[in-house]
Amino acid sequence: MLHTPPIESALLAAMSSQAGPMGARAALVHLREQGFAVSESTVSRLLRELDERALTQSVGKKGRVLTEEGRRAAANLLLDSRRASNFADALNLRDVHDLVDHLVGRRGIEREAARAAALRARPEELAQLRKMVETTGSGRWQERLGFHRTIGQASHNRQIQAITTTLFDERLDPLEHLLVLIGIKQEALVRWDEEHRGIVAGISDRDPERAERLMVVHLDGMIRETEQFANSGNAHVIHAVLAEIESK
Ligand SMILES: [Zn+2]
Repeated sequence: MLHTPPIESALLAAMSSQAGPMGARAALVHLREQGFAVSESTVSRLLRELDERALTQSVGKKGRVLTEEGRRAAANLLLDSRRASNFADALNLRDVHDLVDHLVGRRGIEREAARAAALRARPEELAQLRKMVETTGSGRWQERLGFHRTIGQASHNRQIQAITTTLFDERLDPLEHLLVLIGIKQEALVRWDEEHRGIVAGISDRDPERAERLMVVHLDGMIRETEQFANSGNAHVIHAVLAEIESK
């Protein structure tokens, strides 16, 4: 049931919370209440499609009920949407404390990602990582979330990949700017870039201990610099940027 259209999810959810059969008319009213601008014919077509996929069945003139398969699909969709909103809530960073917690969480996941990448990264991923850290002399120092995202993928551990993909969601890209800002103010960007090169060297040398240790050192440094930046009277700067991210 991946990529279920929202309207279909809404229909299945409505039918699963209803005790008896649901008629086409009630389905139309419900969907419109949920904000879907649908016509009667669209709803009829949707319901027929659900019948064809054996998710619903007609019970005479009273309307339709979910089949066992349909109930299972509705329950899964509910779990999916809860999981998505849990993640969205966790990634809605509000203050310095949230940002530090975010970095601490990343440290736990990314140390394992770096270790696994040293064991499992493919040659083309190693080449990509090396290319990403070849920026010496360009004067464009950055803390690149793309670098961290790539290591997550190169772990080839599906659990780590699922979490890092969510952690480095594009919606969090503005966070990169905040970290760069902190890095500039704390004069840490050059060091962060050196740390990236060290991590890539550890992964390339297929040395999981070194890759893991250097990733921990890297995140430890970012946590420390974020705290120092906040404690030197700049907490309001962090809060302003986070509020801007949230409003996007
Ligand atoms: Zn980094």
